[in-house]
Amino acid sequence: METAFISLGSNLDHPIEHVLEAASQMDNLESTKVCNLSSLYKTIPIGPQNQNDYINAVAIIETNLTPTDLLSTLQGIEKKHRRKRGIKWGPRSLDLDILLFGKLVLRTRDLIIPHRELVKREFVLIPLLEVTNHDFIIPNYGKIKKYL
Ligand code: ADP
Ligand code: MG
Repeated sequence: METAFISLGSNLDHPIEHVLEAASQMDNLESTKVCNLSSLYKTIPIGPQNQNDYINAVAIIETNLTPTDLLSTLQGIEKKHRRKRGIKWGPRSLDLDILLFGKLVLRTRDLIIPHRELVKREFVLIPLLEVTNHDFIIPNYGKIKKYL
């Protein structure tokens, strides 16, 4: 079992429902349990501004999956929410990203852990802080409080 941190985001249809349902879909996986879910944060979009506000959250999960299998499982959940890949940073019904996977540092074509935008994005850092603490160490980056 490994502890991983997942970011959840949505700004289409009913964003709160997409995020809450995705959390329970992760929890319902045989391989995975959700241990904690942050508050839901309403945030303004990055990238194109002609889109709705987002709902963002961070979940702590325990999983038996490898990082690669976790990514494809999360993409399977995104598909159930009719996620379509369109313009970069454009509107989405559900985005599930792997922020952290234990202490792993990984850089492959399809998967970068810690997530490459993690320390740059308030809408990820603030919910991550909520479910950790100021001295929490982001592998390869150091204490979360440096970035807040
Ligand atoms: P984004 O999340 O950047 O808005 P997508 O959800 O469409 O965009 O993801 C694009 C690609 O990012 C995915 O196909 C995946 O291979 C890659 N990726 C790299 N690192 C990660 C990660 N840590 N979590 C999720 N996806 C990742
Ligand atoms: Mg994504």
